[in-house]
Amino acid sequence: VAALRDVLLSLPSYNQHRGSKKPRAPKETLRHVKSREQRKRGVDVHGPATVYAQVVGAGSRDNGASLYVFSEFNRYLFNCGEGTQRLMQEHKLKAARLDNIFLTRMSWENVGGLSGMILTLKDTGVPEVVLSGPPQLEKYVNAIRVFSGPLEEIKLAVRPYTEKQYTDDTMTVSQIPIFGESMQRYQGHQCPSSSMLSSKGHHFSHCIFISGGKARATRDPSLVVAFVCKCYLRRKRGLWHFGLAIVNVRYIVMFSDDVLMVVLQIHPEEVCTPTDPGPAFIVVECPSEEFVQPICIHQQLSRYQRGGTEDPAALVVHMSPESVLKTDEYKQWMERFPSTTEHLILNEQVCTVHNVRSHKIQTQLNLIHPEIFPELQHYKTKETQAALHVPNVRAECLLKFQLRPKIEWQRDAIPSCDTEEFVKEAAEAPNFLQEVEEWRAEKYPEVVFLGTGSALPMKIRNVSGNLVNISATQSMLLDCGEGTFGQLCRHYGDTVDETLAKISTVFISHMHADHHTGLLSLLFQRERALATLGKAFSPIYLIGPVQMMTWLNQYHDHCEEILSHVNMVPSKVLCEGAEVSKFKTKAFIQALLKKSDLAKFQTCPVRHCKNAFACSITHQSGWQLVFSGDTMPCDALAHMGKNATLLIHEATLEDGLEDEAVEKRHSTTSQAIGIGMKMNAEFIMLNHFSQRYAKIPLFSEDFNDRVGISFDHMRIRFGDFRILPRLIPPLKALFAEEIGEMEERRGRRELKQMKGVIAESNEEQRIPNEGETVKGAKREPEEPTQDAGSKRLKTN
Ligand SMILES: [Zn+2]
Ligand SMILES: [Zn+2]
Repeated sequence: VAALRDVLLSLPSYNQHRGSKKPRAPKETLRHVKSREQRKRGVDVHGPATVYAQVVGAGSRDNGASLYVFSEFNRYLFNCGEGTQRLMQEHKLKAARLDNIFLTRMSWENVGGLSGMILTLKDTGVPEVVLSGPPQLEKYVNAIRVFSGPLEEIKLAVRPYTEKQYTDDTMTVSQIPIFGESMQRYQGHQCPSSSMLSSKGHHFSHCIFISGGKARATRDPSLVVAFVCKCYLRRKRGLWHFGLAIVNVRYIVMFSDDVLMVVLQIHPEEVCTPTDPGPAFIVVECPSEEFVQPICIHQQLSRYQRGGTEDPAALVVHMSPESVLKTDEYKQWMERFPSTTEHLILNEQVCTVHNVRSHKIQTQLNLIHPEIFPELQHYKTKETQAALHVPNVRAECLLKFQLRPKIEWQRDAIPSCDTEEFVKEAAEAPNFLQEVEEWRAEKYPEVVFLGTGSALPMKIRNVSGNLVNISATQSMLLDCGEGTFGQLCRHYGDTVDETLAKISTVFISHMHADHHTGLLSLLFQRERALATLGKAFSPIYLIGPVQMMTWLNQYHDHCEEILSHVNMVPSKVLCEGAEVSKFKTKAFIQALLKKSDLAKFQTCPVRHCKNAFACSITHQSGWQLVFSGDTMPCDALAHMGKNATLLIHEATLEDGLEDEAVEKRHSTTSQAIGIGMKMNAEFIMLNHFSQRYAKIPLFSEDFNDRVGISFDHMRIRFGDFRILPRLIPPLKALFAEEIGEMEERRGRRELKQMKGVIAESNEEQRIPNEGETVKGAKREPEEPTQDAGSKRLKTN
């Protein structure tokens, strides 16, 4: 027979379970199995010195109730739901040393992890596992065989509750069957199919036991098994039996060369006598109210209560939901135990972290990328905690109740889940933070839209301002309309100084007030930031129309010192083919490129007003960002930005307002997109919307998956291009009302145009052209100029 078995085992199909492992080498007998045999042979006749019960799964929704009981001779497990094995592995509760698994009820919460546990025990070489509990365990084990492969290497003994007592070197365990009140209803009948959806407190029904309807179902959801465990009486173990070695040597005094006095400290438990009573503990599951009465009136359990025939239980482990604990009957039953009895409750009303290592690694990975590695969560039950009148302890993972040598709670094994500690530990790993920083550097370049409206600052959109964060240390500002600093301040808060300090270059596209009148406060605030941070002051490189200097000079001469803040580079000298005559300007250009790791900074004149320029920034790493400033559709711009990575283009007006766009020398949405397509830009962000589109511009037919619209305080990275167009449907939903109104307006306008009325509807908002303030500086002539100064733009 043995030979036949060997032949069978060598066949591949016999070894295909659990990922077709190679046949294992013959296992050595496990050490603890050897020592147990030695004990049986009477080599060691003493009872265990240490016995404790320890929570594995505290009964939370993700880690069902399971209890580990330890003595140096035996290990037991009460219930083995899914994840129990994992917890035991994490917390070093050796599964290989399990002798007995007790199951309080045939429910998936209790047996879900049993099949995996059995396979592991088999692989470890555990010769035998005894399962105690509901009689269906036998069938459960048979069901496992469907996928486990041969299990003959491990002896799986089922000890049904009808076998009342079990005794080993540590304790005597009595199984106490408790039949629910509805037992009659289920006898001989199949459970309703809905009971397949087993959950805590509900009936368990396992149809795997019924094959093809032939075998008779044996499930009995109305049975739970309670366990009364009585620690084995310590055998007589006097001082001299035990030997001196383990006795604490208090001190040794040498009197002379031949007289030695040894003073021993002897604890009472070292000289215990056969009359020393073994403490008892009870494990009871009361899954639902149906079992409350049967448990409360059970005589075998009441023996361990006040006035019972046995010594009162030292510990009662309740695997019962709050709904049960809240019943008066169950409360009263708990109260019938004397005050010396401790109560341990395992149910969803727990607050403990079981899978600490998983939390730890996730916390650390989260430092690398918070979205790819999101923080782990804790499920909290909404059920309130029962008000109990007996002292009770809520389970925590690895909480111990020691029964021997001294009865006491022990909390030292409870793992801490200190997120700060995990972060600190990761931070101490050599190079970790540097690597994270480098990886995070890939978030650059990043564009923060500080102002996306045209003409004048309004409540939803401020005027033009775009911050380009080139790297963690270098930033550039493209246009700086009034209030740009305020926008920066609100965007960056406490880190605004750091942000300002990083700005080394400002590009001003043209001299309309909505593009440059925020420059001075930016310069002053930047000076303040550098001082606050203790950094040396350095002027910014200012690229803009040379007329800027006229303005700055006048301000400098008559108002405040400002010229030391800027190193001017006229936009025109950065146009293709332009000659740079001044040595100083050449030096500025070289310096600003170097400072921001740029390969090229180019400008081109655009079709807007006199001395209006667009710019193109090419980084050393290859990306190219093009900014249109204000312009009508401009071929020079399309040429300069050929194959750009990102085009930021103005789209002041909606489609259908082409005439108005020509008049004001701006672009419509579709015109802007058209330039981007002509340029073959990888992505187009539209900005500089007329304030009549305060919340959202009107979308045109030309929108495609390479177009996004900007909002103030929006921050985009080049990796976001794929996502941005997908934001449009939710944006449309959010602003459906505004879009509806705008479309209505467009409809009316089109109607009037058809009637030959050229004048705009009264609802069209107008802003004045305030004309020249200083030479070359104008407010954006965005709206018709015929009624300049008469109407202010309504702020709706
Ligand atoms: Zn403008
Ligand atoms: Zn303009």
